[in-house]
Amino acid sequence: MKKDEKLFAVFGNPIEHSQSPNIHSLFAKQTNISILYHSQCVDFDRFFDCAKDFFLSGGAGLNVTVPFKTQAFEFSDEASQRAINAGAVNTLISKKGHIFGDNTDGVGLIVDLDKNLKWKLKDADILVIGAGGATRGIIEPLLCADPSSLTISNRTLSKGENLVSVFSAVAKNANCQLKALPMNNLDGNFDIIINATSASLEGRLPDLDPSIFDGSACYDLMYSSAPTRFLDWARKNGAAKYSDGLGMLVEQAAESFYLWHGVRPETEVVIQKIRANI
Ligand code: NDP
Repeated sequence: MKKDEKLFAVFGNPIEHSQSPNIHSLFAKQTNISILYHSQCVDFDRFFDCAKDFFLSGGAGLNVTVPFKTQAFEFSDEASQRAINAGAVNTLISKKGHIFGDNTDGVGLIVDLDKNLKWKLKDADILVIGAGGATRGIIEPLLCADPSSLTISNRTLSKGENLVSVFSAVAKNANCQLKALPMNNLDGNFDIIINATSASLEGRLPDLDPSIFDGSACYDLMYSSAPTRFLDWARKNGAAKYSDGLGMLVEQAAESFYLWHGVRPETEVVIQKIRANI
């Protein structure tokens, strides 16, 4: 490790698919910042030990992915308001050994939808499928983008209902109708449908009536070289446009990079480079 080189990593399980090391290397090159960034597959019951070891050995910052975001929140000595609202952390920063947790997923999604894809969120009827850690991180930023309604549909309905109660005050302030519906009771007419389930990781599809895709814009948080299975399904059932989550991944990484280094990297060129390599 060189003298001015700081140590970063991403923890997850599985982690082989992670593009975070490549993205952060490209950001570092672009901004002339010297970093070492690696990925680490962490045993399911060892997140706390591994994170502690990482920071004790001089780690400056850590990204955290599935399934450790809630544990990363608990691990933080202090957390940002957006991480507290989400109850999940994807970015840890060591400030002289004091660990600060933040959640950049929501910002990443909104920047990708709004700035990169130019999908209109204001007055839109939005459906989010899934109610896990990623959904917790995106609900508030979506509500703040002024949609007309936001529906959460999850395989385990109670988790969706729980998120509705957690975010009901934010929804009221945003004058947005927030509700949870079972997957077999969606009546369609959504402008934007966001797949925030981890079903794609297992090559599976959520149990939805595909007629809901007709005319909508569909976004899958998962990304791959070809359209994901979910997006392919949506396209075949009439989705008007679609995108995977690579842009969100790069944008949330850019926000982490900014938190760590105080510099905002250029993302468009990085999205293109990563897209060409997956
Ligand atoms: P979690 O494990 O916290 O939640 C998983 C969610 O998926 C739950 O709502 C679960 O439902 C649902 N689910 C799992 N399998 C199925 C299935 N077969 N059918 C229907 N629903 C299912 O994961 P996260 O929320 O952290 O992540 C979700 C996805 O988002 C992952 O693919 C992750 O890689 C991706 N992601 C992408 C990001 C990006 O930057 N592009 C950022 C963050 C996440 P139930 O509650 O019933 O178990």
